[in-house]
Amino acid sequence: MSARPLAVFGGTFDPVHIGHLTVAWEAAELLDAEVRLMPASVPPHRPAPLASSSERVAMLRAALAGQSRLVLDARELEREGPSYTIDTLRELRAEQGARPLVLLLGADAFAGLPGWHRWRELFDFAHIGVLSRPGVDALRPAELIEEVVARRVDDVAALHARPCGKLIELAVTPLEISATRIRDLLAAGRDPRYLLPAGLFDDPGLLAPYRR
Ligand code: ATP
Repeated sequence: MSARPLAVFGGTFDPVHIGHLTVAWEAAELLDAEVRLMPASVPPHRPAPLASSSERVAMLRAALAGQSRLVLDARELEREGPSYTIDTLRELRAEQGARPLVLLLGADAFAGLPGWHRWRELFDFAHIGVLSRPGVDALRPAELIEEVVARRVDDVAALHARPCGKLIELAVTPLEISATRIRDLLAAGRDPRYLLPAGLFDDPGLLAPYRR
């Protein structure tokens, strides 16, 4: 079996920035995959995003205009209550049959994986692609290193050949850009023009949630 994988890149996207888009784009190329950006609803015990769900979706739509390799999938925002990645992957598996699925995670998010709901079972539904990310402290706990050793492949063909269960590290262009930094710049009245996709500046309302 060999099929073009479907890759999922989740996040708060508060706001979506050039770091997200560049690494998602490069992952699409490296994996020869369709990549879906999937904004997350944030559970009540976590700090709320500054922008609402619909504002984050509007920014993603503006950011993704004019290309078709990266696609928006807002299903987690449409679900009631907090959404677990495992449930999203189960749903995608039911929709996609035996097509390879890849969960894309930045190196910092990957280091936190053992804190996720039923994290080991994620590999029953998808492969994981870890995107290099500079400037973040991403020490991997021992239990995660064990999984990496057991599951790691270096060749994309190994991901295309099965629906789930492997892990690949993707050396994408290191860009030290974070949404936190962009929110800080906007709150300070600065204009982070080239850290954000140009489409976010076309409608002045899109960045309003961050300008105080
Ligand atoms: P914040 O600063 O608000 O925490 P963020 O910039 O880390 O936001 P998120 O929406 O939380 O963005 O991240 C979504 C996913 O994108 C995570 O897996 C994260 O690791 C990854 N990511 C974000 N920015 C980069 C980047 N510059 N390089 C690689 N991966 C990134």
